[in-house]
Order: sequence, then C-alpha cells, then structure tokens
Amino acid sequence: MSERYDVVIIGAGPAGYTAAIRCAQLGLQTACIDKWIAADGRPALGGTCLNAGCISSKALLDSSELYQRAQKEFAEHGIKVEQAGVDVTAMQARKDRLVHRLTANIAALFEDRQIKWLPGHGRLLEDNRVEFTPHGLDRPEILAAKSVVLASGSQPMELGAAPIDGERVVDSTGALSFQEVPQRLGIIGAGVIGVELGSVWTRLGAKVTLLEAQDTLLPMADITISQEAYKQFKDQGLDIRLGARVVSTRVSSKQVTVCYRIGEKEYELEVDKLVVAVGRQPCLDNLFALEAGLLLDERGFIHVDEYGTTNLPGVYAVGDVVRGPMLAHKGSQEGIAVAETIAEGKKTAVKRNSIPWVIYTEPEIAWAGRTEQALRDADIDVRVGTFYFADSARANVMSGSKGLVKIIADAMTDQILGVHIIGPWASELIAEAVLAMEFAASSEDLARTIHAYPSLAEALHEAALDVDNRAIHKI
Ligand code: FAD
Repeated sequence: MSERYDVVIIGAGPAGYTAAIRCAQLGLQTACIDKWIAADGRPALGGTCLNAGCISSKALLDSSELYQRAQKEFAEHGIKVEQAGVDVTAMQARKDRLVHRLTANIAALFEDRQIKWLPGHGRLLEDNRVEFTPHGLDRPEILAAKSVVLASGSQPMELGAAPIDGERVVDSTGALSFQEVPQRLGIIGAGVIGVELGSVWTRLGAKVTLLEAQDTLLPMADITISQEAYKQFKDQGLDIRLGARVVSTRVSSKQVTVCYRIGEKEYELEVDKLVVAVGRQPCLDNLFALEAGLLLDERGFIHVDEYGTTNLPGVYAVGDVVRGPMLAHKGSQEGIAVAETIAEGKKTAVKRNSIPWVIYTEPEIAWAGRTEQALRDADIDVRVGTFYFADSARANVMSGSKGLVKIIADAMTDQILGVHIIGPWASELIAEAVLAMEFAASSEDLARTIHAYPSLAEALHEAALDVDNRAIHKI
C-alpha cells in the first residue's frame, strides 16, 4: 500500500531542502528523497552545493587565500611568519569537517520540522505517484502525494575530447579533493567554477593553465569587470588561453597531454592533472517515467512557467534542473515560492532581474542586473558611474585596493539597472545593490544614503555619485 504525503520532493540540494522546510513550516506533511552518498559512505543532505560545490570550494578558497596572504602580505603588516607551508591533507580535512557539519545541520532541521528524509532514488510516475528505491534495496516503494517537487539539480557536462578517468582527468568534484598540489594543472573551461578552482591551486603553488574556448574571459560578466579580472588573474600567474578549443587528450602514467587549437594553429599542453569544467547540465537520470508525460524545454531542462509549475498538475520543479542561472540562492528562493504556492495557493514568481552572481576569486567578483554591453545592445540609454578601490580608504587599509565598482543607471529615469563589482568583499557588497534594485532605487537614492567611513561600501556610494559626475574621492 502507498505511503501518502502532502508533498514529496525529489532532491535535497538548496532548492529541494528549502522547499521541504517551507512546506513543513506551512503545515504540510512532507517527505524528501535524496540519493547523495557522501565520501564516508553515508547518505547526506544538501546536494551538490553543500557536498561538492559551494561549501567545499569556498572552504579551499579561504584556506588558500590565508596561505597566500601569509606569504605575500603579512610582512608588510609587520607580522613575522618564519616559513608558511601547506598541509593539503589538513586543509582537506577542515573542508570535510565543514561539509559534514553543514549537511548534518540540514538533517537536524529536517528532524525538527518532522520532514521525512528518504535516502535513495526517486522517480516520478503518473498521477503524482513517486517510486522510491531506498539505498541498497532493489524493491521500490510507491509514495502518493498531492504535490511533487522535482529538485534533482545538475551534473557536470562531459567533453568527448577529455574523458574523465577520476585519476589524471577529473571534474570539479575531483579537483576539490586533490590530496596534494599538482605541479602542473590544466583546466578546461574558464567559467565561474574553472576560475575558482584555478585560484585555489595557483595560490597553493600549482602552475595553472586555463583553456577557454570563448574569446573573452567570463563573457557573462560586464566587459569592464571581465577585462579587469583577466588582468588581475594574469598578474597572479594564471595562464589563461582564450579561444582555445580542446581537440583530444592523451593520458599516460606520468601526465596528460592536451591537444588544442587556437584558430588554425595546434598546440599541446602537458599537465599532471586536468580538470574538465565546461559547464553543468540538468540531472534527469531516471527521474521520471515516460508515461508521466513530463515536458522538457528546448535546452533539455524541465519546462516550468514563472511559478515553477510544470505541464503536469500538482508537479513543480525548482533549482538547477530548470531554466535560469545555476545558483544555490536562485534555487532556494524558487523552493520557497513553490512551497507557498502548494500550501496557500498564492502564486509567487521569483523575480530574476536582480539575482546576485558571485565569483569567489581574489579579487572577488559580483554583480546583479544587466551588463553595459547588453543594455547598449538593447538600445537603452544609460549613464555609468565607476569608483576604483585604489581610491577607497578602507580598501587601502585592508591591502585590498584592486578593482572597482560600476553602477549603470537608466539615463531617463535614473533607475539602477546593473551593479558590477570586482574587489574586496564584493560578495557582501553586492547585497546592498540587490536590495536597491529590488526597491527600484535610483542612483540618486544610493548617492543620498549615508555610508559609514571608512568602509568598502563607500565605493558603491561614490560610484552612485559618479553616475552624476560628482564622486568626491575619485582621482
Ligand atoms: P543540487 O544541489 O545539485 O541537489 C540536487 C540533489 O538531488 C542532489 O543531492 C542529487 O543527488 C539529488 N538527486 C538527483 N536526482 C535524484 C533522484 N532521481 N532521486 C533522488 N535524489 C536525486 N552556487 C552558488 O550559488 N554559489 C557558489 O559559490 C557555488 N559554487 C559552486 C562550486 C562548484 C564546484 C559547483 C559544482 C557548483 C557551485 N554552485 C554555486 C552551484 C550550486 O552548487 C548549484 O546551483 C546548486 O547546488 C543547485 O541546487 P539544486 O538544489 O538545484 O541541486
């Protein structure tokens, strides 16, 4: 006989677990199926983000940044460190402890909210029934639900020219688990994940070469920011080769040889490890029975409307498995929205104009809204203000004076249309810009808001003043 729930959620990443918690808060009897098995062999909640994405990468980025600062900056501050060294095993152990603590927190939240955690595989059947196969068993149970939320996330895309072998050629998960610093590291794909991983291992002493097929680094970013990022990363020793198309790889017991082409010319690169970070695709493996009739969109994501509703009544989808940026906070907001739709019938669309993007390199990169090039292409008249951290008192005090803030406002209405930052704590500074954009603020609103002195946020204030050519500290 089927177990009955108000809601069954498949996937416990940020999108699925947030949906589960919100459903439970709203009084719905909720179950959440997830198939993730952690490195220690135990099932874990939190999905890619907590287990092999956001948290693991940020843990290693923080550790490697501290090491780099100890080497390059401490002396200037008058701090003597005899000889800074790296213990990758200890660094990885710290990362693993963090991941374990944060995923265990989700389990505690589930228990507290009486959400049924079902470790195993979930598959959508017809009529809102879900087949659940617990780990280690091949006899599935059938669950019945009034509503089903699909939150199965994404997985790395493969590249035929560079098959993953888990040893010399790895994906992002493999690159987050190296137990020693590779001397020569190649990374195919200079997107967000590629540049973050490149930063980690460069800081720890690897000679990193990034091969990017496009002609621009970070083409989705504002052009001013991507040009500045290119310059900064080059200065840090990252070898970035743009327009490089990988043709084939040869793996031997000693190294990987990557053959790639820039234009008509062919090149070879020899590395000890190769990371393939060419993007991610929706995870649909055995997620639904064909008879269920679930519709996919033209790019292979689950088709949803602005409310996260699929073509099937009572079936919703959220997170990386649906259109839009593959970001944890975008997924979790969609999770909340569908939970409220299910429980209260009030349809909330997630506003996607001001979703913040963050790249946790050094300097950090963050933005919300549209780029200058996209606005100009759309014939929208804009005014632009910039402010460089070199002119910020706080940034100088912190030895973080690289980068800038750029604010783009509508030339007619002055409404802020985009904010782009490369510089210290960009990941935190962007929150002010997001809030301003959510409230449809003008650059004048930001310019008239008092910001603490000395603070990094003053750079936003100054950039807002600069939209009207009246920045105070701009040299
Ligand atoms: P996921 O987190 O992928 O979770 C989906 C879950 O569903 C998984 O546990 C999976 O095992 C499970 N599942 C799938 N199919 C089934 C099934 N049939 N039955 C049962 N379970 C199933 N985003 C940010 O916002 N900030 C960052 O700093 C950031 N850093 C990243 C770094 C790396 C290296 C990577 C790879 C990604 C990073 N991301 C970051 C992206 C972020 O991880 C994703 O956007 C986010 O995890 C998507 O959440 P989700 O809930 O949609 O899916």
